[in-house]
Amino acid sequence: MKYSIRALVRNALTYHERWPRMWRSPEPKSEYEVVIVGAGGHGLATAFYLAKEHGITNVAVLEKGWLGGGSVGRNTSIVRSNYLWDESAHLYEKSLKLWEDLSQELNFNLMLSQRGVLNLAHSLQDLRDLSRRVNSNRLNGIDAEILTPRQIKALEPAINISPSARYPILGASLQRRGGVARHDAVAWGFARAADARGVDIIQHCAVTGIRRSGGEVVGVETVRGFIKAKKVGVAVAGDSSVLAAMAELALPIQSHPLQALVSEPVKPVLNTVVMSNAVHAYISQTDKGELVLGAGIDPYNGYAMRGSLPVLEGNLAAVVELFPIFGRMRMIRQWAGTVDINPDASPIIGKTPVRGLYFNCGWGTGGFKATPGSGWVFAYTIAQDRPHPLNAPFSLERFTTGQLIDEHGAAAVAH
Ligand SMILES: Cc1cc2nc3c(=O)[nH]c(=O)nc-3n(C[C@H](O)[C@H](O)[C@H](O)COP(=O)(O)OP(=O)(O)OC[C@H]3O[C@@H](n4cnc5c(N)ncnc54)[C@H](O)[C@@H]3O)c2cc1C
Repeated sequence: MKYSIRALVRNALTYHERWPRMWRSPEPKSEYEVVIVGAGGHGLATAFYLAKEHGITNVAVLEKGWLGGGSVGRNTSIVRSNYLWDESAHLYEKSLKLWEDLSQELNFNLMLSQRGVLNLAHSLQDLRDLSRRVNSNRLNGIDAEILTPRQIKALEPAINISPSARYPILGASLQRRGGVARHDAVAWGFARAADARGVDIIQHCAVTGIRRSGGEVVGVETVRGFIKAKKVGVAVAGDSSVLAAMAELALPIQSHPLQALVSEPVKPVLNTVVMSNAVHAYISQTDKGELVLGAGIDPYNGYAMRGSLPVLEGNLAAVVELFPIFGRMRMIRQWAGTVDINPDASPIIGKTPVRGLYFNCGWGTGGFKATPGSGWVFAYTIAQDRPHPLNAPFSLERFTTGQLIDEHGAAAVAH
């Protein structure tokens, strides 16, 4: 059913009891043309674009838990494209362009709010790095500008720009087209649109093995039996190394907990998204009025989706220093997800040495913004059995050739 004013009125007449389910719960078939592992944002977007752009609809998305229960439903929902290197800038900008029409395309309100993203500079070196990134963004056609402390204060009246702060604010970069989107809606919107095109989304179906015959993939073992497929795309974020080991592959990825928290709701007080690399904090306000805060990663490896208190304490101290007014806020919820970090803080999207097996991983703390773009290029790679020029530089081989794409500076929180 297409969502529209007419559908809303029609359903109001039946007390909203007859809305159809957003996606089916099919039994897995014994064979698919393509199996995608992981019903997070990236896996669902891949399935959607496989169907829409390449006409491949005999696709299953297998999810060990529930759809959207991973990082796509746990992130702080920041969307932007102001990365340093050309390769990343092109990929993230492709994604941002897709975001701009995505609610219409999926017929689902993703609540994209392009309210601007500020990256703060607290030292002369920070400011130089940001200026370099702004110049590079502009050369790539990406909107970016440098603001003075006064201009920052005009945008964010609650921020502390006192020169006597422990980490004084010397300036910031601003991407006005950056902002936030409703993360759950992104998973639900892609799932609904993929399902409508015939994709089977199968929840509670953990993949326990990747079966190979010689050098090629022949299917996946799951808790609900073997499923045959000549093409398997893996998009499991924090669990990527675990899935790679099933195919006897080693990835250079480290999995870490990353935490976030929300406050009680208050009236509008923040206009943009404010990020600071130096103090490891980023903050925005939801439409409901809650402050959403994110921290740096917990330094140890882990898959438990639980973080430690010292990281949160440091994060709250940093936020209160930037916004002393928030010292009186109460936090109501805290959680963590598992992020998959590559040595160069850039993703891997492409083929593997096993024919028919493709990996999309290593997005670390910043893959939400890439969801549509990542799904778009991954679908292309799987359908054509070769990378699109946009994701060709993000191959697994770069860790042996040395052609790394170092985005630690743009990734915004410490790795
Ligand atoms: C606290 C936090 C804040 C973040 N903030 C931002 C931000 O503001 N902006 C931004 O751009 N990015 C952010 N990120 C990063 C972003 O959320 C991730 O990079 C991105 O969501 C990962 O892709 P995904 O959505 O496909 O992952 P997920 O949603 O984690 O999807 C992977 C899925 O694979 C499933 N899976 C795993 N193993 C198996 C298996 N064996 N069989 C079947 N299924 C399996 C999992 O259950 C999961 O549902 C943040 C992450 C966290 C944790």
